Amino acid sequence: MYEGVVQDLIDELGRLPGVGPKSAQRIAFHLLQADPVDVRRLADVLVEVKAKVKFCSVCFNVTEDDQCRICRDPRRDPTSLCVVEEYKDVVAIERTREFRGRYHVLGGAISPIEGIGPDDLRVKELMTRLMDGSVTELIIATDPNLEGEATAAYLARLISPMGMAVSRLASGLPVGGDLEYADEVTLGRAFEGRRLLDV
Ligand SMILES: [Zn+2]
Repeated sequence: MYEGVVQDLIDELGRLPGVGPKSAQRIAFHLLQADPVDVRRLADVLVEVKAKVKFCSVCFNVTEDDQCRICRDPRRDPTSLCVVEEYKDVVAIERTREFRGRYHVLGGAISPIEGIGPDDLRVKELMTRLMDGSVTELIIATDPNLEGEATAAYLARLISPMGMAVSRLASGLPVGGDLEYADEVTLGRAFEGRRLLDV
């Protein structure tokens, strides 16, 4: 244990995802030795990102405006909608350049173990978006793991009475992993080879 504010810093860093106690300590000591100007820049950007960045009112992607860049872009196909778990999945799919439609960010996946159900995700908002009938193809791009599959199955069942084509990314993605960890080529191929769900 360190004294006062140094320990506070280690504790705060240790609460970040993927940062264990050892890494927290290493980062803390790096910051202690760093140039005050560099540390100030980091502190400023942390405050700024929380003040400026919010969620897109349409798709829940992160944005600095009311609507994100993709929702505002008239060249994006409004008939094709891709459902993802997190904002970082939008980034991963955009990198493949395979998709020209729009997105819907659920904010996670169904996980009974963690007590996350459909009501904790932006499912209601998705259904509202689909209501006007302009979307004709829905691509479910949740992660290729247990939670992602459960979420995809749930959504497919829910959406099937609406009569639109519902597809899921092709296999070939690393099973059990996160979408974001798939390389561009693999993810692009999975997108291209997406298969219609028979629901
Ligand atoms: Zn948006």
